[in-house]
Amino acid sequence: MEIITDISSLRSFLKNKASIAFVPTMGNLHEGHLSLVQMAKQQAECTVVSIFVNHLQFSPTEDFNQYPRTLEKDCTLLKDNDVTVVFTPSERTLYPEAQKVLLNLPPVANTLEGEYRPGFFQGVATVVLKLFNIVQPQVAIFGKKDYQQFYIVQEMARQLNFPIDILAGETIRAADGLALSSRNGYLNNDERIEASRLYKMLLLIKQAIEQGNKNFQKLQDNAKRILTQSGWKVDYIALQQRNTLNQATVEDHELVVLGAAWLNKTRLIDNLEIHD
Ligand code: AMP
Repeated sequence: MEIITDISSLRSFLKNKASIAFVPTMGNLHEGHLSLVQMAKQQAECTVVSIFVNHLQFSPTEDFNQYPRTLEKDCTLLKDNDVTVVFTPSERTLYPEAQKVLLNLPPVANTLEGEYRPGFFQGVATVVLKLFNIVQPQVAIFGKKDYQQFYIVQEMARQLNFPIDILAGETIRAADGLALSSRNGYLNNDERIEASRLYKMLLLIKQAIEQGNKNFQKLQDNAKRILTQSGWKVDYIALQQRNTLNQATVEDHELVVLGAAWLNKTRLIDNLEIHD
């Protein structure tokens, strides 16, 4: 496995590769990331994983400095998983000067996560676009864990004519249902036990709708109420159409329920697709 930090070395290494599958990450890797790596290996001869904590997608009040950086351990995991190249650019490599060219995204980027994290998707889309131009993969893989991110990256690739297939990997969960996430490391023991409640509330909504319940407002309100009573601060619990991420109406099918909530100082997100 090659560990490459600069753009020109990466480009020359990848030059004659027949096919490339790419998994962008911010590191602190877990089984969720590794499941995307396994998908990538089925797609192409060469698998590239990037590890870069992208300051552009963090607001000044967010956890950029605190975000867990575990490069050595990550590289061992990736080597054990037979990755071809790890691309770990420095801040100066990816942003040698202030990034003034930024992507302007469709209105969906201002909803849900975008409403609570202004500028987040612009930061994500801009770094993904830069990485796509550097790696030039045929396939790129994102997790459904970050459902709206996957949706927006797919829209970006489609509308900007990137010749890249954007694939989604299923969310990998702990035994109690909590979606694996680097930010789970912020939780203390009590919070870790409480943390699976977000998933459980989304699951209740999913099951109710799959059994024919059409009272979307009440289902969302109940979930918010129970989370709040359990000590969470809820940003949103939202039923959306899967193919637009617009708010769902009772006539709609193909839904997804998404949630974001704070457990003390840790913000968790999750979602479940609904098959009614
Ligand atoms: P991150 O390092 O958090 O930026 O995530 C890198 C990629 O891994 C993104 O496409 C995420 O959606 C994906 N990912 C994160 N957590 C999970 C998970 N539990 N299951 C599957 N994919 C995940």
